[in-house]
Amino acid sequence: MSRAVLNATLLPRFDLALDFVNTVAYRGSTQAESLNSISDLLGWCAASGALAKETADELKQWSMRHPESAAALFSEAIELREMLARIFLRFTSDTVPAESDMRALNLALAEAPPRQRVSAESAGYGWRIAVPGISAAAILAAVLWSAADLLVSANRKRVRHCANDRCLWLFVDDSKNGSRRWCSMQACGNRAKASRHYHRRKAV
Ligand SMILES: [Zn+2]
Repeated sequence: MSRAVLNATLLPRFDLALDFVNTVAYRGSTQAESLNSISDLLGWCAASGALAKETADELKQWSMRHPESAAALFSEAIELREMLARIFLRFTSDTVPAESDMRALNLALAEAPPRQRVSAESAGYGWRIAVPGISAAAILAAVLWSAADLLVSANRKRVRHCANDRCLWLFVDDSKNGSRRWCSMQACGNRAKASRHYHRRKAV
């Protein structure tokens, strides 16, 4: 793997880890994958703020020059995502994550670059990191930090999945009384309401 140093400024969102897990939609049904290549992954990283755009562009160039290493890195990144999915899905049912998943998370955290410096950016404050080489853990550093922050915070108890069992979208329930049930009212909430309405009408 290259030892190139990439500078990234990150303005990570609080639930970046869950956003990453949600790149697979309909986990409880026929899964809809939105990351099918390293280019999709880097596009997501840039769009979500997990990587600075220039860093993602540099990595895209690198991936075109090293397709085999890039493919290996991509499958490693997907493995990390599925590990995070398993951990947070366990929390939605108040279950302890598997030891093997916790071990994998800690290995990835140890491999990720350290959080060393914050800097003022136009949109607020961001992490300034130097990626010491190219690996899935380095590229997903902000995602891994976000996962660890969520895990050690009280919000861990507010991780929910959408009440539609086919959907299973993950979110942090930030409603006042902790009663949020759906990924969104527009998607599963309304569909559930419509289906209840339909079944009531059929029963009459
Ligand atoms: Zn849903």
